[in-house]
Amino acid sequence: MVKNLLFKTAYTFYYFAYIVAKKFNKNRCENNCVSKGFIKFNNRLAIKRSKKVKIEKIALLLPHCIQNYSCPYKITSDIGNCRECGLCKIGEISKFVKERNAIVKIATGGTLARLFLKNEKPDFVVAVACERDLVAGIYDSFPMIVYGIFNKLDNGPCMNTDVSLEEIKKIFDLVGKK
Ligand code: SF4
Repeated sequence: MVKNLLFKTAYTFYYFAYIVAKKFNKNRCENNCVSKGFIKFNNRLAIKRSKKVKIEKIALLLPHCIQNYSCPYKITSDIGNCRECGLCKIGEISKFVKERNAIVKIATGGTLARLFLKNEKPDFVVAVACERDLVAGIYDSFPMIVYGIFNKLDNGPCMNTDVSLEEIKKIFDLVGKK
């Protein structure tokens, strides 16, 4: 209880710093530094808190923008609809979640992501999102354990983004073992 209060205070401090940096700082690097600090702090804590988590209670939460923009298949309702054609990272992720029998959700926005977490109640979430969604989502979800990974915006935000599958695998392998 006291621990949770301390954690929440630290989260609030970081979140407040993030909001202030975003509002007053024109320098994206400095702003990103606050987000990165927040995610680093959160992720270290998430791994520490994951000792008793069972592998079947880990969920993977992904943003819809990882799917290739031209793809006609509706993966938001079921990742199994992906044909694994190789045009985007969803194909490799689809294989991975099948192998691990992992819970997965591809969300079109924060509201759907929150609804998924409320319904599934996983013990540990690996969440992939852009800076703004990830920081706000982690803050709102506390005390749920959420490990955050930024997606790669090489083609700009919200379209044809990417993520490191190796990083996702690494976290799945680490949970419950620290
Ligand atoms: S890998 Fe799957 S989601 Fe991506 S473009 Fe191909 S079929 Fe669509």
